[in-house]
Amino acid sequence: MSTPMRWSDSYRLRLILGYVLVVSVLAGAWAWSLYGPLTDAVIEQQQVHLQSVAQAGVLVIASSEDSPVTVVNQLVADTDLRMTIVGSDGTVLADSAENPSAMANHSDRPEIIDALRGTVGREVRRSATQGFDQMYVAVPATYRGERVALRVSESLEKISELSGNARQTGLMLLGLSVILALILAARTAARTARPVERLADAACAMAAGDLTSGVPVEDGAMEPLSAALSELRMQMKTRIGELEAEQQNLRTVLDGLDDAVFLLDGSSVRLVNRAATQMFRTSAAEMRNRGIAEMGLPASLSSAIADALTATSSTTLDVGPDPLQRYMRLTVVPLGVVDGTARHLVVVADTTDRMRLDRVRRDFVANASHELKTPTSGILLLSESAANAASDGDTDQALAFLSQIEAEAAHLRQLVLDLLNLSRLESTPSADSMTDMRQAIDLSLTTHRRAANAKELELRVEFSAIEGVDVYVQADGTDMAIALDNLLANAIAYTETGAVTVALEAAESTVTLRVSDTGMGIPAEDLPRVFERFYRVDRARSRDSGGTGLGLSLVRHVVERAEGTVEIASEMNTGTTVTVTLPRAL
Ligand code: ADP
Repeated sequence: MSTPMRWSDSYRLRLILGYVLVVSVLAGAWAWSLYGPLTDAVIEQQQVHLQSVAQAGVLVIASSEDSPVTVVNQLVADTDLRMTIVGSDGTVLADSAENPSAMANHSDRPEIIDALRGTVGREVRRSATQGFDQMYVAVPATYRGERVALRVSESLEKISELSGNARQTGLMLLGLSVILALILAARTAARTARPVERLADAACAMAAGDLTSGVPVEDGAMEPLSAALSELRMQMKTRIGELEAEQQNLRTVLDGLDDAVFLLDGSSVRLVNRAATQMFRTSAAEMRNRGIAEMGLPASLSSAIADALTATSSTTLDVGPDPLQRYMRLTVVPLGVVDGTARHLVVVADTTDRMRLDRVRRDFVANASHELKTPTSGILLLSESAANAASDGDTDQALAFLSQIEAEAAHLRQLVLDLLNLSRLESTPSADSMTDMRQAIDLSLTTHRRAANAKELELRVEFSAIEGVDVYVQADGTDMAIALDNLLANAIAYTETGAVTVALEAAESTVTLRVSDTGMGIPAEDLPRVFERFYRVDRARSRDSGGTGLGLSLVRHVVERAEGTVEIASEMNTGTTVTVTLPRAL
């Protein structure tokens, strides 16, 4: 796109005007130098001619016997010349054009004065009788022995007409040459200016940011300029390309970060990354060029940023919870002053998950310590009581205390085993482990059969759906043993009469294990929480059953590690069914 150019500024117009001026001055000077001398030469020539005629007349009148009037009339007959004879006293003796007696005394005429003195007199003046410029040439002559002046004159009308014509022709020629010069100049200027204009257009387009249209290739004097412009365009294109790629990389890095990043210029936002828009649910356009308080950040965060901006060194602080119950770690790094404005990098990390995990860990340690403390304190107390009973000689009481100590120790042992299993399940599982479910169930049933028999509960397996089919799951054998043991232990522990059934089904890519009982069931409001660590529906009932509150949480860990799902369904006083679905190993 070329910038509109005023005609008066145009390079082409100035070239044309320059040409025309030079041609006009030269032609004018030429005409002027020719016209003046030419007119002078014509007048000179005419004077010489008049003088010759006069001198011929001198010879004629000297020897003529005719009257002077007849002589002069004869001498200039059939010419445009006029001849006058003036006597020595200035009286006009004869004139070829007027009646001499009607003519004034000519003694004051300069040419007559010269002639009567004996020299040739010349004069050009306006004739009193004719009314226009006349050229007079007077020569001394003798008429009838007397000195007279013979004057020949001619009207300058013809000469001025001639010179007028010459001037007109000269002016016409001048005009013509100016027009020719104009045409020539316009053509030459067009030829000279076109490459300059083309290059100027290309340069203007580049300046306006258009680097796609090429620079015209020119030859001659414009060739180096055209080559330089073309090179400049290539360099600009490469540089801009590099800058854009660099910017793109930076953008990709920034947008790849999980933390929200803002670049603040003074207190207004210049740059935001994708995480920032997602974290604060605002578009980048709504944040950019706004003040911190107007960006829609939680009030606690924006006031913390405002405070941190006043610090001279890097600041890190935790903020929260915000209205969405999120916790954030804010880092503000001063980047120095650019163009008189302080710049800061603000990084906001969402620490909600980390905080929750910390809390869960803290709660777990507290719960685990409490769970461990109870049987330990019990054992200490019971052993003291047992010692006292023994020293009192009450052996039965001492034995009763010892049996309670044994129960507490067994509970303690179970707790420690469950905790060890929990820590095992938190480590990364081996990728290619596989377990034969039929075998795992048989093994687990063997362990629990005694407990079931003790409560006269029927232990059933339901393998009819997988008759003759191998059923392997993608899970670790020990993990599966932990899950099955806990499911069976719970089913037996919380069932007084009836049966405990273990059913196995297999689909193309999944295996479903179902452990159901006819026990006391779980109240509906407790169902969502039974997979939490140390959660018990009824502490007393759980303690009686020897439960640690970790059983179902271990099952959940096993299932999660194997990338399966677990569900629990229960009805009070009817029974409970836990359904575990695991990926099938083929
Ligand atoms: P615990 O070791 O105490 O049994 P779990 O995590 O295994 O802990 O179970 C959590 C709670 O869920 C138990 O305290 C118990 O009240 C209840 N529960 C688990 N399984 C059953 C079941 N099959 N029948 C009835 N209640 C159950």
